[in-house]
Amino acid sequence: MNPEANSDEAREMDLARQKDEAREKIDACADSAALKDVERHYLGRKGIVASALAGIGQLPPDERKDAGQNANRLKQAIQELVDARARVLDETSLAAERSGAGFDPTLPAARLESGSLHPVTQVTRELEDLFLSMGYSVLDGPEVELDHYNFEALNIPADHPARDSHDTFFCTAEGSKDAAEQLVMRTHTSPVQVRAMEQLEPPFRVIAPGRCFRQETTDASHDHTFYQMEGMVVGRDISVGHLIGAMRTLLRGIFKQDLDVRLRPGYFPFVEPGFELDARCPFCEDGCSVCKRTTWIELLPCGLVHPNVLRAGGIDSDIWSGFAFGLGLSRLVMLRYGVDDVRHLFGGDLRFLEQF
Ligand SMILES: [Zn+2]
Repeated sequence: MNPEANSDEAREMDLARQKDEAREKIDACADSAALKDVERHYLGRKGIVASALAGIGQLPPDERKDAGQNANRLKQAIQELVDARARVLDETSLAAERSGAGFDPTLPAARLESGSLHPVTQVTRELEDLFLSMGYSVLDGPEVELDHYNFEALNIPADHPARDSHDTFFCTAEGSKDAAEQLVMRTHTSPVQVRAMEQLEPPFRVIAPGRCFRQETTDASHDHTFYQMEGMVVGRDISVGHLIGAMRTLLRGIFKQDLDVRLRPGYFPFVEPGFELDARCPFCEDGCSVCKRTTWIELLPCGLVHPNVLRAGGIDSDIWSGFAFGLGLSRLVMLRYGVDDVRHLFGGDLRFLEQF
């Protein structure tokens, strides 16, 4: 008998036996966790195949090649068995899932988070629609503004005391020494008036809602960032009567009822005459906390556009006149929804925002 043939045969038998043994174990795996264990037992870093390969160095040189080949054949065979079993287990678990076994229809559904528009956005869009229906255009302007537009062209020159009341955030523009080229965070939406006059031929009607900034200590009624809506109408023979008419329409749009208004004299450098417009409190008959027991709500500053402002915008003030108003959008939202602290609006608290 040829001893070499004999040892080959013995190795073949050994290989077949190990393969059968592995197949038995693999087929017995009921889930993928058990399959992973078996896979690790044979093919892991310290598994049977790895230790067989590691032991090859101890064998006589003429046996090493065969032993190495056998170990690799075993490795490949076991890997194929494991992969086949994994496919079967996958299909079984998918079938079980589809059959609905283990599905509990009484469990509560996952809660869907639904978003909504910010109240300031909601009110802004409503007012835009209202003014668009009255023939106004909606304009936008930069939030970082030149001193020229924020102050100078609005009849507020560098030494004007009204500047003190504006608590401005200044942004230093590099290399600019000219005061009019100084950049500021706009303190009101009025600069858009000037930009409108530069771009449009009168007559025109525009509104400009937007974000404004003041360097203020914050409290329940002041925030460093707030929203305003500027309005401006330029035409022939524009009078205070036109202004009051527009403001009544505005109030009807906001509060869904006709409210009395009154004008009190007010001083703003960019209008002449200037007024504070008050509206009858929509929440009470004889005084409440919103109107501080006065039955009137201070709503907005307004007036006829100052001839200096028209001229700064390149409009002939002998031919054209106009009115302008600056509506506090943040304040309006607070009035409408009964919000008692302006800081809630942009505090980012979802518990607050989810109410809208
Ligand atoms: Zn009231």
